[in-house]
Amino acid sequence: MIAYANPSAQFKAHQAEIGTAVARVLQGNHYILGPEVEALEKEFADFIGIRDAVGVANGTDALELALRGLQIGQGDEVITVSHTAVATVAAIEAAGAVPVLVDVDPRFYTLNPSQLTSVITDKTKAVIAVHLYGQAADLGAIASLCQQNGIELIEDVSQAHGARWNGQRLGSIGRAACFSCYPTKNLGAIGDAGLVATNDIELGKRIRMIREYGWEERQISSVVGRNSRLDELQAAILRIKLRYLDGNNQKRRELANYYSEQLKSTFLSLPQENSGQSEHVFHLYVVRTNHRDGLLKHLKGKGIHPGIHYPVPIHLQPAYSGRVRCSDSMDITEDLSKTVLSLPLYPELELSQASKVVKAIKEYEQLI
Ligand SMILES: *Cc1c(COP(=O)(O)O)cnc(C)c1O
Repeated sequence: MIAYANPSAQFKAHQAEIGTAVARVLQGNHYILGPEVEALEKEFADFIGIRDAVGVANGTDALELALRGLQIGQGDEVITVSHTAVATVAAIEAAGAVPVLVDVDPRFYTLNPSQLTSVITDKTKAVIAVHLYGQAADLGAIASLCQQNGIELIEDVSQAHGARWNGQRLGSIGRAACFSCYPTKNLGAIGDAGLVATNDIELGKRIRMIREYGWEERQISSVVGRNSRLDELQAAILRIKLRYLDGNNQKRRELANYYSEQLKSTFLSLPQENSGQSEHVFHLYVVRTNHRDGLLKHLKGKGIHPGIHYPVPIHLQPAYSGRVRCSDSMDITEDLSKTVLSLPLYPELELSQASKVVKAIKEYEQLI
């Protein structure tokens, strides 16, 4: 079986180091928010090129806590896209704010800045720019619109750990940046984990308080908080994975180049790199075709299991439909849900496996 992601292959690639780190944590006397979390926070902040990083329980919490830390909640509106993981939108509501969803750019599938002006109101407090599939959203245009309107820019970097925008790491540009370290992500734990990065030391402090019951001093809640702690096992594993992140992203880029080379004259629309400005880290290699469902069935018959990111836009999902505010046209988002397919791609994927995927796609092309 060849699947679109394979977290266990990455465990096996670093098994000895991970085993040693896990044993060290188990022998220690700190299992949550201890020395491994502190070291990870420092190493991750250095990696991103930012002053502070805060470990939290998962990527959804990272977004919720960033919003809460910026005192965004009840009565406020936060703009993001409908073409994203549902977590982005769930986090806005968890913070108490109202999500407002806009359409995406037809080339790069990230937030279309030209849609922002029409949905900004007095209540708009933040934009969450999602760096989808491994590539930066149009940060130049989004950041300047945020600045003109006095709105905070928050980056959702859950699919683009290590990617760059004009040479700078993603996550160092917005007021706060949120990362999921779910096992399939470019930087993945072996369980749930998340991080918030920021240059604002006071904001980092507030998020640290909120992640543990609002404590500044132990057992005294200074603000309303909750439990979103990161455990030592995940932090120790992430410290190892972080050292391999750039190398693994490079392998993803090489495999993406291989697919793009092999598939360029087929019926598929291939991912475009916003080159010159952004460096794509191919969290997912997403192709588009009107024959998506037929192709998916054909590939599954050959033991190849691509993913669909995402099959139903958030504004059309049962929990949200008719309830969240959207921009007038969501045409690109709605078309993507019917046409996208994520081909198998992860650093440990072998060229022979990628070549099987290419061969199966070309076979299907003969049938349509
Ligand atoms: C994975 C993901 C999240 C949520 O992360 P969890 O760790 O599952 O809570 C948020 N946003 C995006 C874009 C993601 O891909």
